[in-house]
Amino acid sequence: MNARNPHAGLPITDDDAAIAAALEDVSVPALMLSLVHLTGDPSYIRGAIKPRMLVLNEIQGFMPEEEQAEVRRLALEAIRAYRDAGCVLPEQPGPELLHEMMSWVACDEVPREYLPMLLEDMELDGVDARRASESGDPAARAGFPVVVIGCGQSGLLAGIRLEEAGIPFTIVEKNAGVGGTWYENTYPGCRVDVGNHFYCYSFEPSDHWSEFFARQPELQAYFESVMNRRGIAEHVRWGTEVVSAVWDEGSATWQVTVETDGARSVLTARAVISAVGLLNRPKLPDIEGMDDFAGPSFHSARWDHGVDYLGRRVVQIGAGASGFQIAPTIAPDVAHLTVFQRTAQWMFPNPNYHEKVGPGVRWALRHLPFYGRWYRFMIFWPGSDGALAGARIDPEWPHQDRAISERNDLTRRWFTDWITAQVGDDPELLAKVLPDYPATGKRTLQDNGSWLRTLKRDNVDLVREGVARIEKDAVISTSGERYEADVIVYATGFHANRFLWPMHIVGRGGAVLGEQWGDTPTAYLGITVPNFPNFFCLYGPGTGLAHGGSLIFQSECQMRYVSACLDTLISGGHRSMEPTREAHDEYTARHQAEIKQMVWSSPAVEHSWFKNRNGDIYTASPWRLVDYRDWTKSPDPDSYTID
Ligand code: NAP
Repeated sequence: MNARNPHAGLPITDDDAAIAAALEDVSVPALMLSLVHLTGDPSYIRGAIKPRMLVLNEIQGFMPEEEQAEVRRLALEAIRAYRDAGCVLPEQPGPELLHEMMSWVACDEVPREYLPMLLEDMELDGVDARRASESGDPAARAGFPVVVIGCGQSGLLAGIRLEEAGIPFTIVEKNAGVGGTWYENTYPGCRVDVGNHFYCYSFEPSDHWSEFFARQPELQAYFESVMNRRGIAEHVRWGTEVVSAVWDEGSATWQVTVETDGARSVLTARAVISAVGLLNRPKLPDIEGMDDFAGPSFHSARWDHGVDYLGRRVVQIGAGASGFQIAPTIAPDVAHLTVFQRTAQWMFPNPNYHEKVGPGVRWALRHLPFYGRWYRFMIFWPGSDGALAGARIDPEWPHQDRAISERNDLTRRWFTDWITAQVGDDPELLAKVLPDYPATGKRTLQDNGSWLRTLKRDNVDLVREGVARIEKDAVISTSGERYEADVIVYATGFHANRFLWPMHIVGRGGAVLGEQWGDTPTAYLGITVPNFPNFFCLYGPGTGLAHGGSLIFQSECQMRYVSACLDTLISGGHRSMEPTREAHDEYTARHQAEIKQMVWSSPAVEHSWFKNRNGDIYTASPWRLVDYRDWTKSPDPDSYTID
């Protein structure tokens, strides 16, 4: 066995009964693909037994039970032979066979243009292709200090890549620990809604998740363990906020003022990487009487664990992604829960959402060659660019108020059936929970039925109105109804359109980033900004993923680009680089033209954090993942002023 490939699996020493038991849990299509690696025999995927359809979060490809049982029987034979022969892998599939394997499990031809992106992400050759380059003069690298702002998933990734490149760096983190959003959001029920075997770094093991969609403590622990294993912690200044960053033309450095416990100091950096995330400045509503409320009240991202909600009357204002997870978790414990939901949410059926990863799957992830990599593919591919075509507005479609295209109308019907199947027996509730805007127009929520089950509880009320005012012991709806409250939870979202706020970033010629951006933040490829040399954004303007993928995938693409920019600067002995106005403006015009054609821009979607005050979108990306990955492989020198 190729001991250096971390995805080839540990040697198998289990007896037949243990293997057979493990196989009962696994994804059969991923198992069949693993068998091709394990035996070198492609006939496993060339016979009559095959998946029928690949749908996000359905892991058996809709294969009938008897076919699954037959595959398990064949697999036991093959695995036994592999074990008994000392777990030696045969020659591994070449690119053509890998393409065939992808198309087989996707149940459709995977276009060839996707192969580089998918193979890079799957790392079947055990090579982390997005690793930062260590080439060039080590002394030049050592003389190029970088400040990274934020130690969430993207800041930690930046640290990992800078460490690989031999570039000195300091990560400034306002919290006391790693994880960003996964450090701050500790509300009951907080969990990720992208499958964890994909929502993780591509180059780190992913065989340890206890749930398919892990809860916040496990996610935070994951980032902590990666940080410790990679030796990044010693580079982080915890509990420290960046107050300002000012470009000094004379020395071609950024002067970064930071504050720890009220004491300020200045860091000097040749480049700054902003890894501050987007959804981290809580947005409290402006409601009359909020300050008069006598009981405890707090934002979902600032959950007050000192408040005991057991047996109390809780009013939850807001039911987007956060509120949607909070209500089902606290409802069984409170005396009464009132949920104010101004706009109903579309939900994507996902029966696995709260499921634990069973011991058989864990065994397969650890032992079956490349099983985990194919399982990753099975999450990545159906949640990838296929969904983007469905998000495009068809201007010829006549019913724009309910759907943006015929295909989108089919999705609306599918989602509507999912809701109706659960609450069709309660017409009053059904009317309240059916959204009246196009499906996927806001962020679609993952659902296993827990939301509507919660709303059907005797101790839960759903109020489909706004809030008129708050009194010392109650919340009053716009129709004047009074809802008594001991505790108020504001699950009202974040300042998503205020990138990097409230930091004061001053670039060339005194340009102030917040003023340059105003309500329309833009960056070339969402990463670099005219007037702000050697300044790089991760999860910058226009890069949020609304159609699929995972933000970690996006960060890995962006950080590769940033590493290549740093390489350009250092190996060329340059002072600075910034995007040309032309490149930036051309990109921005394309971004705006494209995003306006997507469902998130539909005027039928009244409120969403994707939109700014004017209803324009500067948060989300309209791009295919395959294109964005291509554009961010390395900087095009013609798009930059490099001196
Ligand atoms: P959100 O999606 O922006 O939802 C905010 C909620 O508050 C909405 O129901 C909104 O109503 C309501 N609201 C806002 N202002 C209000 C007001 N003045 N009066 C009454 N209601 C008001 O925020 P979020 O739930 O925190 O989620 C934000 C994003 O974070 C998500 O879309 C997702 O990207 C991410 N997130 C992800 C996860 C996950 O992975 N599982 C979990 C949580 C959050 P309207 O809809 O009418 O505006």
